[in-house]
Amino acid sequence: MRTAVISDIHGNLEALKVVLADIDERSVDRIVCLGDVLGYGPDPVACADLVAERCEWCLMGNHDFGVLYEPTNFNLAAEQACYWTRRQFDAEPDEESKTRRLTFLNQLRVRVEFDDFVCVHASPRRPINEYVFPEDALNSPNKMKQIFDWIPKYCLCGHTHVPGVFTDEPEFYPPDEIGDDDRYNFIEGEKAIINVGSVGQPRDLDPRAAYAVMDETGVSFHRVEYNIEETAARIRAVPELNNWLADRLFEGR
Ligand code: ZN
Repeated sequence: MRTAVISDIHGNLEALKVVLADIDERSVDRIVCLGDVLGYGPDPVACADLVAERCEWCLMGNHDFGVLYEPTNFNLAAEQACYWTRRQFDAEPDEESKTRRLTFLNQLRVRVEFDDFVCVHASPRRPINEYVFPEDALNSPNKMKQIFDWIPKYCLCGHTHVPGVFTDEPEFYPPDEIGDDDRYNFIEGEKAIINVGSVGQPRDLDPRAAYAVMDETGVSFHRVEYNIEETAARIRAVPELNNWLADRLFEGR
């Protein structure tokens, strides 16, 4: 079973479309989403519809939670984006579309397990909100040990928008440090937390959209170029979306 894993789309329809097209070129059996479909970006409604249509299931991210319920610990730009996003769903004139979308958003799950994988948006012990940063592998070995205690084997997550593999050494390996073709092969007896990166707002200084493909033996990381200019223009056209949300896309930060 080959599973394409996407995360952190953040209302970036241009990025989502090219990622789905790229996935369609590979032989994958299904697509799943680790959450944060919404927030920051200019096309939250279209992104929600596309994820609902193409993904087998989708998790709840902190921004999805913020839009649906209430934003917590958000900076001003993120909070404003949250309220604006909510209004886009409220503004739908067609009752049937509105109900279908709210049904989709209301059934987003916090945690899904399949085979050897625990899937969460953020971290296995605080699935919606905890950040597991690459530097934690070096600076916070206790935090990493506690987090690894929550999973029997492998975990899939997003949230930081930085793709790579955490092992229980603990160590962090970005995709370009794991060998040929940006593929990481699981090692017998070793636990791993795989961050698949962000489709719509990468923060590893590579502005290309990120996603990953899993199978029983490992994970392949992929990057795809998309029309950043188009997404940025759409962000700048919305007064409630801070221009910085457009600027950062070009730098991948
Ligand atoms: Zn996110």
